[in-house]
Amino acid sequence: AFQLEPKAKVSDACASYADLDQLNDRLYPYIHNLANNTDFFSYYRLNLYNKECPFWSDESGACGNIACAVTTVENQDDVPAIWRAEELSKLEGPKAQHPGRKQQKERQRPLLDQLGESVGESCVVEYDDECDERDYCVPDDEGAPGKGDYVSLADNPERFTGYAGEGAHQVWEAIYRENCFSRPISRRNSIDASGSSAPIFGLSQGQAQAALDFKQVLRAHKRDEAISVPEEETTANFEDECLEKRVFYRVISGMHAAISTHLCHDYLNQSTGQWGPNLQCYRDRLHEHPERISNLYFNYALVLRAVGKLRDYVQDYTFCTGDSAQDKKTKNMIRLLADNIPPGPQIFDESVMFQDTPTIDGISLKDDFKNRFRNVSRVMDCVGCDKCRLWGKVQTNGFGTALKVLFEFGSSTEEAKEKPLLRRTELVALINTLDKISGAMKALEHFREMLIAEQGGK
Ligand code: FAD
Repeated sequence: AFQLEPKAKVSDACASYADLDQLNDRLYPYIHNLANNTDFFSYYRLNLYNKECPFWSDESGACGNIACAVTTVENQDDVPAIWRAEELSKLEGPKAQHPGRKQQKERQRPLLDQLGESVGESCVVEYDDECDERDYCVPDDEGAPGKGDYVSLADNPERFTGYAGEGAHQVWEAIYRENCFSRPISRRNSIDASGSSAPIFGLSQGQAQAALDFKQVLRAHKRDEAISVPEEETTANFEDECLEKRVFYRVISGMHAAISTHLCHDYLNQSTGQWGPNLQCYRDRLHEHPERISNLYFNYALVLRAVGKLRDYVQDYTFCTGDSAQDKKTKNMIRLLADNIPPGPQIFDESVMFQDTPTIDGISLKDDFKNRFRNVSRVMDCVGCDKCRLWGKVQTNGFGTALKVLFEFGSSTEEAKEKPLLRRTELVALINTLDKISGAMKALEHFREMLIAEQGGK
């Protein structure tokens, strides 16, 4: 049976599991339709291929490239080519090269002329090198020679790819290590300041070295001296942590849980060649870890609250796909979604976070939180499978955007008035991330039904 009490409140949020399930039953069709059936939300621009992993090098043996990251599906040679991990990892659909800044403007010149002066250039031309201190994510073109590609998200669903093993573990481990504000440091899972290493998810020596290199990077950023990696995510571990640090961990763990849910629900049975839900995968990765499921629900509350806060913002947003009828429809769809989200802090109350207390400086804590989240977004360039990297980037940007909306929105500075608060990529990532969480909750419901049916059949 499902181990979370449906009527219990999702800790750190303001609604129960049952409330959120009910809400999702109602909202899922809106969210899914918006994310998958509008041009605006189903194309994403990102730099998928031109950025190197900033934390470890391929030579260290702990690489983030496809060749060494996808070797873990057993007996690759026995598997038909189309089912091999590297094939499964590839992107589908045409990829358009992203035009340079000058080209972008030139291309849009006729449209700009046609629209006249009342339409802002920013709506038609999306420059990709603008970022500011309010961002929780590193803009995807940071330091990149090429500016990225447009990818159809609808053509590349998040599903099983076969990406696993040391490469994948190292990325997760690096992500969780960003959560080292003040987690209780377990001796077994820590790297001490002298540099000696203990096993982390059973890392090889090369990987442990890479982890140490990563630590050097953290040191350069004046981070904690001792790094801890959560062995497991029990709520007991959270007791001596402040809300913000807990929230950081829950966002990551909830994102991990959503990825696991999608890959278990859209799994390739390599003996039959059939795609479908894998109940054992669900049992191992989710059902036996209710805290992971709880973190996924927490993320739903957090992201939904952010989307709800955009109600007024999207009112004035110009979607600019070049088709005004479609733009109007898109706006109506997002407004309808926002209108159905409970207003105010009924599901998540961000106002209690980053407050000054006698022992905590709210602003410094927020800066720390932001910097750590930016590092999580950088780690995505170390993901060694194209499709996983795509969705990893979409989702970190989506959470970064949600955090930005929750904690930076409503700033009345002149700068905020001048600049559009959200870039197109941020809005697209936010809605698609919500779609991933919402879809994962539906998939979990399906798994629970399958489990009950299986138990009933015995
Ligand atoms: P992993 O999922 O790799 O987990 C490693 C360890 O983290 C576990 O042993 C456990 O201790 C801990 N852990 C697991 N889940 C949680 C949680 N929710 N909260 C806290 N701790 C946890 N594979 C695909 O098939 N399709 C994809 O689209 C895909 N996308 C990915 C995106 C990213 C960014 C990354 C890093 C990996 C992705 N993968 C994807 C790989 C996938 O996430 C797993 O790494 C892989 O399936 C191997 O799983 P595992 O059982 O070894 O444990």
